[in-house]
Amino acid sequence: MGNPARRFSKGRTARRRAQTFKASAPSIIECPNCHDMMLSHRVCKNCGHYDGKEIIAKVDVN
Ligand SMILES: [Zn+2]
Repeated sequence: MGNPARRFSKGRTARRRAQTFKASAPSIIECPNCHDMMLSHRVCKNCGHYDGKEIIAKVDVN
């Protein structure tokens, strides 16, 4: 008995796979501590705060 060669066409599969490298834009929010722009759900690069706490201590390079 004949079996179907494919469930979806090659073009449909290729279109779906083409989505994988379409990276979504990173959501940038304002830091509640220093009000600098930062990536959400990341430690702030400017002041080192996350969730109201200081995660990365400031080190004076002098
Ligand atoms: Zn900050």
